[in-house]
Amino acid sequence: MRFGPEQCFLCGRPTTPPTDSVPVFAPWLQERYQLANRQILLLDQSVVTYSDLRIPCCPRCHTQHVAPLEATVEKAAAQGLDAIRALDEKTLFLWLGKMFYGVLVTELLTELDPLVKPRYPLAENAQMLRRFQAFFQTFQALRVPIVFEDFSPASVFVLEVDPQQDTVPFEYDDDLTTMTFSIKLDNVVIMACLFDNGIIRQAMRRVYTDAQRPLHPIQVAEFKARVYYAAYLFNVVPDYFPRPVQAGDDHIVYDTLIDDITSEVFNPWENSAYGQSLLEMWKRWQIPLSEILRDPAQPLSFLYDADGVSRNIEKYPV
Ligand SMILES: [Zn+2]
Repeated sequence: MRFGPEQCFLCGRPTTPPTDSVPVFAPWLQERYQLANRQILLLDQSVVTYSDLRIPCCPRCHTQHVAPLEATVEKAAAQGLDAIRALDEKTLFLWLGKMFYGVLVTELLTELDPLVKPRYPLAENAQMLRRFQAFFQTFQALRVPIVFEDFSPASVFVLEVDPQQDTVPFEYDDDLTTMTFSIKLDNVVIMACLFDNGIIRQAMRRVYTDAQRPLHPIQVAEFKARVYYAAYLFNVVPDYFPRPVQAGDDHIVYDTLIDDITSEVFNPWENSAYGQSLLEMWKRWQIPLSEILRDPAQPLSFLYDADGVSRNIEKYPV
């Protein structure tokens, strides 16, 4: 948990900037979606390009850990949806985690610049730093062989977009304070909450099962609103306990514990706040809040009809 241009993002060893670094968005992604010169707006309102976004990485972590991970995902992405779904969840967690981490560290380092006054300072957010520490412990699985005993550190979702109604080949967004990240590769959308021990996915299992079909982008956006809002309500930070390593062990086993006695796992769901999340995710379709919350007890849905039956959306507006 040390950041700076002269420390490897993964192992903390000294690095020599700018040679010892890796792009946050891998070269294969930048090439495949022509991202190099595309711009990203940071929280302090400065603009960088995808190719500017790099994190310090020692040569060893680069060749032994980051490059093989990227090669695995690149190969699956070239084959499409089924191959991505077949990746194990830890691989997807680490892959999303690396990009999330890269964006977050860039934001934090920008904030440390005395000339910058960010609109939403991250470093002052104590709860976020606790979550980040929890995430960072499990993210070490990129470098060290770690076995998660009976849990998965994140909720990872893979959705399919109906190509008929889809015009956006690549997209990514994140919410740094709730540690959610989502990326779209052609007709595949992968999203995750990176520190919740898979609890959001468990809570959303019915919605996720119902969403295992080609979805209209407006439905994917609704699904994303549910995940992001659930992550916002998620109220606990898991603790992790590495078991003592014995001579001859070739991996570390992590146990986990969630303190659900002193606080509720989720804060109560409020439709008005969830409506704001929908408003944000549906920006592209310009659906007003009044329409979303016409029935305050049942916000607008494209995934389900009023009776809770899955809807098919062929086009929007209909
Ligand atoms: Zn390293």
